[in-house]
Amino acid sequence: MPNTVKDAIKVGRTTVEDVLQVGRNTVEDVLQVGRNTVEEVFHVGRNTVEEVVQVGRNAVESARRLGKGTMQAAVLHGREDIRIENVPFPQAAPGELIVRVGAALTCGTDLKVFRRGYHARMIVPPALFGHELAGTVVEAGEGVEGFSAGSRVVALNSAPCGQCFFCLRGQENLCDDLLFNNGAYAEFIRIPARIVAKNTLIVPDHIPLEHAALTEPLACAVHGFEDSNPHPGDIVAVIGGGPLGLMMTHVAFLAGCTVISVVKHDGQVEAARQLGAAHVIKASTIQKAIRETRALTPNNRGVDIAIEAVGLPEAWEEAVEMVRKGGTVNFFGGCAVGTHVSLDTNRIHYSDITLRATFHHTPAICRKALDLIAGGRFQAGAFITGHAHLYELNRVFEKLMKRSSEIKTAIVP
Ligand SMILES: [Zn+2]
Ligand SMILES: [Zn+2]
Repeated sequence: MPNTVKDAIKVGRTTVEDVLQVGRNTVEDVLQVGRNTVEEVFHVGRNTVEEVVQVGRNAVESARRLGKGTMQAAVLHGREDIRIENVPFPQAAPGELIVRVGAALTCGTDLKVFRRGYHARMIVPPALFGHELAGTVVEAGEGVEGFSAGSRVVALNSAPCGQCFFCLRGQENLCDDLLFNNGAYAEFIRIPARIVAKNTLIVPDHIPLEHAALTEPLACAVHGFEDSNPHPGDIVAVIGGGPLGLMMTHVAFLAGCTVISVVKHDGQVEAARQLGAAHVIKASTIQKAIRETRALTPNNRGVDIAIEAVGLPEAWEEAVEMVRKGGTVNFFGGCAVGTHVSLDTNRIHYSDITLRATFHHTPAICRKALDLIAGGRFQAGAFITGHAHLYELNRVFEKLMKRSSEIKTAIVP
């Protein structure tokens, strides 16, 4: 008996001990789980707070911008002086559009303006700057038809009045009251009512905005080419390997002409070839360029069409010497104010040479240009050789001045 009681007490004590131990462990586990849970809740909480704060900060930033009513834009102050500034956010008056710029392309004209600090017809500093753009409508003013927020558009840099002598004759490029618009190097741009009504086009879904932005320079090239009385199979000399010379080369090639491209810089040779030039001449002198071009035509008779796309009086004269009897010369490149050329009157008269000098574009030609881009044969991508942010605009123009192999840079705000 005594042993039995002792044993029972021992077993009892051990059991209590075990139960206590299990209890202690359980409490420990529960505490640990509790601690982990609290840890996790804290962590999730912290991240959530972090995110909420970030979202809040962004919202405040946007609200501040909207509240202030400003946006970032390039402002031309003078010679080689572009500043990126906060300028008033544009508002759409009746008939107007506000477009968020998807891409703005650099252009030879802008480069000239950057170098000179002004443009007699288009821009007087300080002024918003840039004119080749495509983007998305964010606001349509009262009475606008055909466009609404979300429409992808290319808005041309000008629009004719439609009422003057020239407009009524279908020569809208010569309109007495051509309205120009600048300000493409910006986050947003205001499109004046007349341009909305006459020269803003919907960009087909499959066309990138930066390709659509080529509509304006391409319209100039198509206009100049069509004015030169072309026929498929013609031999066309294009003098100049800048953006418009290359565009002219490509347009003539696509129309079935044999193109001789006359360029000045090494970097332009390959581009001219890629865009369809059958021959590329890089001659050190004008006399040599004329000789080599003529040598590529049957019996040295000269080309059917010579298009000058440089804008230098000596190149205008060169173009006249390249063309055959009965051929057409197009002085497509605009020269500096006050310059003159000297022409061989006998040659022009007795060889029955047609002289043209196509300027700018018309609404009908702009539509043709966008159709050409949308058609798929036009190599839009080849003309855009770089991308840069608005902040890099000065650097981009400095680089373009050094005549690198860049054709056009897409400025993306
Ligand atoms: Zn341009
Ligand atoms: Zn007019």
